[in-house]
Amino acid sequence: MKRLFTTRTNLVLLLLIVILQGCATLGLTSKKSNTIETHIDLNAVENDQLLVTLDPGPFPAGEVTFYMPSVIPGTYEYSDFGRFISDVKAFDKKNQPLEVVKEDTNIWKIANGKQLDRITYLVDDTFDSEDGKEVYPMGGTKIEKDEVYLLNLHAMVGYFKGGKEWSYRVTIDSPADLVPFSSMESVSHTATKDVFLAGRYFNIIDDPILYTNDDSISFTLEDIEVSLAVYSPTGAHKAADFKDTLEKMMRAQKRFLGDANTTKSYDILLLLMSMEELQHYGGVQGALEHHTSTTVVFYEGLDTASLKEYLTDVVSHEFFHTLTPLNVHSEQVHYFNYNEGVMSEHLWMYEGTTEYFANLFQVQQKLIDEDNFYGRMSDKISSASRYDDTMPFTEMSTKIVDEPYQSNYQNVYYKGALINMCLDIIIREQSGGARGFLAVMQALAKKYGVDTPFTDNQLFDEIVAMTYPEVGDFIKTYVQGNTPIPYKSFLEKAGVTISNSDKKLQSIILLDSRTPFISSKTSEEGNVDLAVMGLNNRLAEIGFQEGDLLRVFNGTEIPELSKENMGALNMLFGTSFSWTPDQEVTFEVDRDGERLTLSGTVGIAVAPAKGIAAMDDATPAQIALRNAWLYE
Ligand SMILES: [Zn+2]
Repeated sequence: MKRLFTTRTNLVLLLLIVILQGCATLGLTSKKSNTIETHIDLNAVENDQLLVTLDPGPFPAGEVTFYMPSVIPGTYEYSDFGRFISDVKAFDKKNQPLEVVKEDTNIWKIANGKQLDRITYLVDDTFDSEDGKEVYPMGGTKIEKDEVYLLNLHAMVGYFKGGKEWSYRVTIDSPADLVPFSSMESVSHTATKDVFLAGRYFNIIDDPILYTNDDSISFTLEDIEVSLAVYSPTGAHKAADFKDTLEKMMRAQKRFLGDANTTKSYDILLLLMSMEELQHYGGVQGALEHHTSTTVVFYEGLDTASLKEYLTDVVSHEFFHTLTPLNVHSEQVHYFNYNEGVMSEHLWMYEGTTEYFANLFQVQQKLIDEDNFYGRMSDKISSASRYDDTMPFTEMSTKIVDEPYQSNYQNVYYKGALINMCLDIIIREQSGGARGFLAVMQALAKKYGVDTPFTDNQLFDEIVAMTYPEVGDFIKTYVQGNTPIPYKSFLEKAGVTISNSDKKLQSIILLDSRTPFISSKTSEEGNVDLAVMGLNNRLAEIGFQEGDLLRVFNGTEIPELSKENMGALNMLFGTSFSWTPDQEVTFEVDRDGERLTLSGTVGIAVAPAKGIAAMDDATPAQIALRNAWLYE
């Protein structure tokens, strides 16, 4: 998954990425032939709730346990999807009710399984329920009668104990003018009824369905059929707006990946949301990864140029997940435990390699220039510095669902990518430029592939055996160990250095690539204010001083600081990212009990930054290594 998001403490759009992928564990019973008849009627919506019926076929005697997932692959957090279902009922073959006991948020029990014919329950959507705020919108459900339905089925359909390998035949009655988009296998389709087949519970999670008006485009990348479906509430954006950008980028990705990609089709489901929905989710936007599709949710009010940029950014990351974890993953991922967090130690690869390649391919395929690539890596070094640099990456990975690891999760996109950059440079150096880390991943994908997991604690030995002892030293010291990585010494091998320079800021309200100039501060009277914590060149020239309390921002009173107002605040400050240098801005601040008005133009705000740049005096050997690293 990749998400663009705003935290509660940090009022700035941030880039985050998480994956959603995985497989189901083998069932413990031999009932492999069981098919769960699943029925959803999209026409029968009441209070944004849908009725779901699951008819699992005969059970042997004894108790039946029904689960909704708590954890889904790749989000690295507990979501408790059981919260979104209610009124769970069980019936026997004579349509008489059976007793259902709710044991836990995600677990229901029916004592006499032999009598059970079917269960029914109501599903609430996440887009306007209170609990729904805690789920990522791209992993959530949106039920808007006759208009749009985003069906992330892990929030709607559960599984039976012992039945994660059973198939699901999903019958959906739909309004006649809405069309489904999904990578789930279609058995039949009419204007008002669709039947899909999910081979096992894994596919229920892995193949979301978007029912919307028929706005889509498709193109082929050699043998991959790529489709994009768009839902835009006001019709402001069309699928055709994004075709050229997506096609150009994905063609370059396919060239970069070579044989390592075996996907036959790839579907992009893009749902654009309203301002209220964006606020409901506290500003969270982004994409959730699946094996052969991705769900992307952005704010509809973004201009087409920004949407193109964000879409390129998230889809390039998501599509590289078809390399890992799709084709290279451990047993913990393959036999995923949906109700306890049992995690692999290889987040450095699932997210780190994915994010690194999503940047490297752009310079290698000449979509960006070398300086742009260095800028991205230097941003990652700055971002990584805000997390615990001594937390061993493998330990963080296995314990990621719990603190203090969970709050370091975002570092998988910063330090995780940088770990891969260093490994890439080491392998290029040791091989005389002949191969890099992509070659290692291609070989692993060939050996393992979609259906064969590796053993979690044997992957590093295998990678070292395929490469050089220097790779093993690096992993031991900087990935499994608690030593911070000296990036400078690795970059210098390739004739690249880290120096201090001024860097243009994306917004006047920033102090560095993502820290805002204001932060919440509680006064002696207990009021929570937004206080100026630091200045950049432009803020200083406009007349701000540290400690000023911000009251009015371009004519808008700053609302009281509360969780509820966070979305509104993010939107208010978010506009600053699209300002041009000649934009006039006005602020009102309180300083020593006095109200002051400060105004000026946005200008060019800069901040001192660690700059990565090619060395002027690089040796021919360093230049050769750099060229092999970036362009081969
Ligand atoms: Zn990801």
